[in-house]
Amino acid sequence: MEKIQEEILELKKQLGSELLILGHHYQRHGIVELADKIGDSFGLAKAAAEATGVKSIVFCGVRFMAESAAILCRDDQKVYHPEPEAGCPMADMAPMEAVEEAWSILTSRPDYKARKMIPVTYMNSHAPLKGFTGKHGGAVCTSSNAKKVMDWAFTQGDLILFFPDQHLGRNTAKLMGIKEEEMRVWYPSKPDGGIDSLEGVKLLLWNGHCPVHMKFTVRDVEFVKKNFPGCLVAVHPECPKEVVDLADAVGSTTHLVDWIKDLPHKTRVFVATEVNLVRRMQQDNPHLRVEMLSRSLCPTMYMVDLFKLKRSLEKIIDKTEEAVPMPDEIKGDALKALERMLALA
Ligand code: SF4
Repeated sequence: MEKIQEEILELKKQLGSELLILGHHYQRHGIVELADKIGDSFGLAKAAAEATGVKSIVFCGVRFMAESAAILCRDDQKVYHPEPEAGCPMADMAPMEAVEEAWSILTSRPDYKARKMIPVTYMNSHAPLKGFTGKHGGAVCTSSNAKKVMDWAFTQGDLILFFPDQHLGRNTAKLMGIKEEEMRVWYPSKPDGGIDSLEGVKLLLWNGHCPVHMKFTVRDVEFVKKNFPGCLVAVHPECPKEVVDLADAVGSTTHLVDWIKDLPHKTRVFVATEVNLVRRMQQDNPHLRVEMLSRSLCPTMYMVDLFKLKRSLEKIIDKTEEAVPMPDEIKGDALKALERMLALA
């Protein structure tokens, strides 16, 4: 164990059971070793909501995750983010002005009249978009429960506007039997979002993507399938549909972690997700040959490091650390959207 990790353990001891450190699967190994709970955004959101007896939640992940914990936590709890500058490029692709404009254009179209649109928003989004979703009768989803949430949304309306990851939306829709011609991509920069007609359309996909999962290509999959006969390919649903279509397994971070464990000894499996998680899968499954489909690191997840975690804990002890701000006007509606998701879990 590194010296700084031992120092962090000392600080953890001082804070005792009032402290909960949450670590996302994409965090560096040193952070994950010190986290009280490791998980994907869904598991950690639940852990934050269920953290009884805990006063301080330190979220080692990106900003939208710390914000979600701040929305879900009790009034006597505070959430801290060791690196408040660590955002998410995909969340940034759905700024609120563009979201509000899209909603207003769509709901005033002549061909919308008899329709009812429900927003479904991926956890990987800013808090105001979650608030918008709650206000308009929608729900948040994660890659673990996107199908369940979209099934629910179709009991509330007949058209879904899915933010901000078009790939998770499209890959989930495919599982639900929604056809390509029943989907359209909403391009915020085009007049009318580039949508000519809503007739027969069930799903509108916001034009957003995760740069980390966009790095995996059809060529990557074809290359390993050709050169390593019998190998398996496992991918995250934020990858493009063409890549997902060629994969042997697709699923959320937690699903992939569980799926891989049960593979027969010596299976060679190429995984298409963030590099820190793939490295951990390699360590945790020495009976397998786990490899990266391609090396893809999330630069904002990487911004959280042991020095920042240590500084955050010191400041919590000194009572000088700033908690993640969550204005009441956003929290109320965002909580509705998150609770609708948790109720479906
Ligand atoms: S992996 Fe993608 S979605 Fe997740 S934080 Fe990084 S950029 Fe955002």
